[in-house]
Amino acid sequence: MNKIGIVGAGLSGLAIARNIKNAVVFESESRPGGLLRTETIEGYTFDIGGSHIIFSKDNETLFEMLATIGEYVEHRRRTYIFYNNQFIKYPFENGISMLPAEERFQILKDFVENMIREKKEPENLLEWFYYVFGREITDRYLKPYNEKIWKRNLEEISLDWVGGRVPNPPVDDILRSAVGIETEGYTHQLRFFYPLKGGIETLAKSLAENVDVRVGERVNKIEVGEGEVVVETTGGQYEFDKLVYTAPLTHLPKIMDCDEIEGKIRKLDYNSLTVVGLGVKDKVPNFHWLYFPQSDIVFHRIAFLSNYSPYMAPDGCSTIIAEISRRPGERISNVCERVIDNLVDVGFDLNVEVCKAWEWKHAYIVYNHHYREAVEKIRGYLRKKNIVPFGRFGGWEYLNMDAVMAQAKALAARLG
Ligand SMILES: Cc1cc2nc3c(=O)[nH]c(=O)nc-3n(C[C@H](O)[C@H](O)[C@H](O)COP(=O)(O)OP(=O)(O)OC[C@H]3O[C@@H](n4cnc5c(N)ncnc54)[C@H](O)[C@@H]3O)c2cc1C
Repeated sequence: MNKIGIVGAGLSGLAIARNIKNAVVFESESRPGGLLRTETIEGYTFDIGGSHIIFSKDNETLFEMLATIGEYVEHRRRTYIFYNNQFIKYPFENGISMLPAEERFQILKDFVENMIREKKEPENLLEWFYYVFGREITDRYLKPYNEKIWKRNLEEISLDWVGGRVPNPPVDDILRSAVGIETEGYTHQLRFFYPLKGGIETLAKSLAENVDVRVGERVNKIEVGEGEVVVETTGGQYEFDKLVYTAPLTHLPKIMDCDEIEGKIRKLDYNSLTVVGLGVKDKVPNFHWLYFPQSDIVFHRIAFLSNYSPYMAPDGCSTIIAEISRRPGERISNVCERVIDNLVDVGFDLNVEVCKAWEWKHAYIVYNHHYREAVEKIRGYLRKKNIVPFGRFGGWEYLNMDAVMAQAKALAARLG
């Protein structure tokens, strides 16, 4: 049997370890979970890595995740976009039905003209939006929202990002919506699930049961020998046949000799995130989460966690988180005050009892034009050294939880 070590006890490390006998997982933080961690302050429970809901097109994986968390709640999504001082239904192309008739006409006219116009094949994300959705939908929502979350000119984002993730416009939906008929989009996520108690960390906690996780053991050095991988942590030195690496690829030059791929690692781009948690002594409207494309509002999304599960806040109170995408190294001053002020600006004047911010260096992989070549080279190099890159930052891939769970199972079967 192969001796397997795993760097990182986020969802990726945990999901692999629980499918392999005797794997050892090293986690630098004091508890497992990575982005899936939850904290309770004065009775308000916050998912500190941002809003996480459980959904999947793959029923087998979905049922496995639900069986893992035990008690859960099920919802039909109630999600809106703040647009021209009103909340319209998400996604935007389905929210068009809530706009005034003249605006619907402008959007419809442009969409139809765009469909029949001869067009050059798109080469980047901005061109792809124009190609698929037309100017009106792109300029009104897709461009400002995506510029806000990616913090980049959208021409810098490659079509690798689009592959399967941003769906083609449901033509039927846009036409219906434009003539005022209500429709639903992103239907694979319309129904979603959430742990009844304990926030999203419940999933990580359940996965970590019966897994050998060495918390507080940061991996400081990886050395590749003849047929073995030697790992030095803050707690000791270990030898493995194979090492699964789920920490960010950008950390590698600090912990292993990898001159051959350092240039490629420097090409990798990502965004950071600030999550601001608010405990409020008010009942909030019955939304799940809201999107804000406006550049003068600090957050791009807010989520009402106490509408996911009533156990997330004391009776009569509410728990909210605001997500703010940042370029790596960018600082946001007075973030709690700015979030509270902007909430007032968009119509939520709340009695705030608790406010705390959490910073995440790695949150979103940016699919720049170097993405595919750099990632393929780095992955190939590591595999040759018996190091298996995996996960959102270890594999450098925009993975949601269901994809992590499914891929981890397949990988464990190959390794175990
Ligand atoms: C804002 C946001 C919202 C999201 N919402 C959803 C959602 O609604 N639904 C969904 O399905 N998915 C969602 N996701 C995706 C989901 O968070 C990821 O798929 C998942 O958490 C990735 O887990 P991971 O283990 O790959 O990475 P991580 O969670 O980053 O885990 C990596 C672990 O490695 C540890 N580590 C790092 N360096 C070392 C070292 N040197 N030694 C030891 N340990 C180390 C870290 O401490 C961490 O615990 C969301 C992601 C974000 C950012």
